[in-house]
Amino acid sequence: MNFDYIIIGAGIIGSSTAYYLKKALPGSRILLIDRNHTAGAGNTAKSAALYRNFFSSNTSRMLSGSSIKYYLGLGDKVKIDPIGYLWLFSKDQWAVSRKTIERLDPQENKFEILGRDAIGEILRIEYQAKDRFPDVHAGIFCHLCGSLSAMALAQYYASEFKSMGGEVSFNTEIVKFNLTGHESRYAPWDEVYIKGIMDQKGNTYNAKEFIVATGAWTHDLLAPIGIASGILPKKRQLFTLNIDDPKRFLSNSAKRPAIILPAGGVYIKPVIDRNIIIAGCADDLGQPFLMSDPEPDSLYFHSAIEPVIKHYFPGLRDSILSHKWAGYYDYHWPDMTPVIESVANLMWVGGTSGSGIMKADAVGRIAAARLQGHEEAILADGSRFRVSRLSMRDRNVEKEELII
Ligand SMILES: Cc1cc2nc3c(=O)[nH]c(=O)nc-3n(C[C@H](O)[C@H](O)[C@H](O)COP(=O)(O)OP(=O)(O)OC[C@H]3O[C@@H](n4cnc5c(N)ncnc54)[C@H](O)[C@@H]3O)c2cc1C
Repeated sequence: MNFDYIIIGAGIIGSSTAYYLKKALPGSRILLIDRNHTAGAGNTAKSAALYRNFFSSNTSRMLSGSSIKYYLGLGDKVKIDPIGYLWLFSKDQWAVSRKTIERLDPQENKFEILGRDAIGEILRIEYQAKDRFPDVHAGIFCHLCGSLSAMALAQYYASEFKSMGGEVSFNTEIVKFNLTGHESRYAPWDEVYIKGIMDQKGNTYNAKEFIVATGAWTHDLLAPIGIASGILPKKRQLFTLNIDDPKRFLSNSAKRPAIILPAGGVYIKPVIDRNIIIAGCADDLGQPFLMSDPEPDSLYFHSAIEPVIKHYFPGLRDSILSHKWAGYYDYHWPDMTPVIESVANLMWVGGTSGSGIMKADAVGRIAAARLQGHEEAILADGSRFRVSRLSMRDRNVEKEELII
């Protein structure tokens, strides 16, 4: 039970970190632990698994753009489906976001700005404002966006890690960190660090370095040992609607993008081959930063999401709710950008704020670089990323404005 590195959490972030660490240090003994039976079964499995390179901050664009490049190379292995994103703006929203968007190079970032007519060639949508629903004024079609299988991606990293000699322990829940010395009665001269960790059966595991990649559970795990991770959970839910005919909301069967509507942060992922759409919503004030009730709530769908969909897509008025599930975003406030920080021999990596799938390749490379003491990580597109930019102490990131 003696390892060089132990990574707790085999979601997309822990699995990617394990893979890049083992690749760089093939002779090291590295253990990847998760309480679930397989990699990716936490919030990774709950995600809508959409990816996009369209962000306002340069940091987000580097993290997602380079990761997407890597995923496109994996292709069918991770079920890449480059459906694109259509982000719709009301007149008022456009007036606010336009400046941010005009700073981005459409060719380099592979997007185009659409007016109402061009939107109408893709969607059968209601443009006019009515009651609480704003108008549809403009859209951004993002070509380097789409969907993939988040489970397949997490399992790809975990199985490549194993094939290089990495060790995994599933069905293993870490319930305690064993610290040196007296536990909360330390003298200022005591050297405090993590000696080992204990699982639900009382087994202990020792390592030189511990990496916590537990996503939304990070705060609950680290706060008791005196670490303010800066990561907080917030419930997020997804709902599927049956659609008998895609023509009810699509004008052009060749284009079936993910759609972000101008009301209430509601978004839709069409899955045409299964005759469904998946809908979610990014609400804000009023939704607690707590691991509250993990069950999905149909009433939430009927009050917050269904009215928006039925207003903008009159053709979907008769669609019926078929499935629902809930998970948690792991938010890092205030900049909605991932965190990689350490205290003593413990490092935590998370705070992916709802875009962990699309940034996981870059985040894993940066975490692995930091563990090796490198100042920079090389991302999949060859760009260099200063590792300290994602730390809390020497943070250097821009606030992300295009979050859903
Ligand atoms: C509804 C919803 C929709 C989303 N849509 C998207 C999207 O379209 N695109 C996108 O990029 N992102 C999306 N996300 C966000 C994405 O899912 C997360 O950013 C990503 O999964 C975070 O990965 P992770 O590895 O940090 O966390 P997780 O996948 O949750 O992994 C953490 C792991 O830690 C394990 N763990 C926790 N505590 C312990 C313990 N004590 N002992 C052992 N193991 C432990 C858990 O079992 C879990 O497997 C969405 C999230 C939700 C909830």
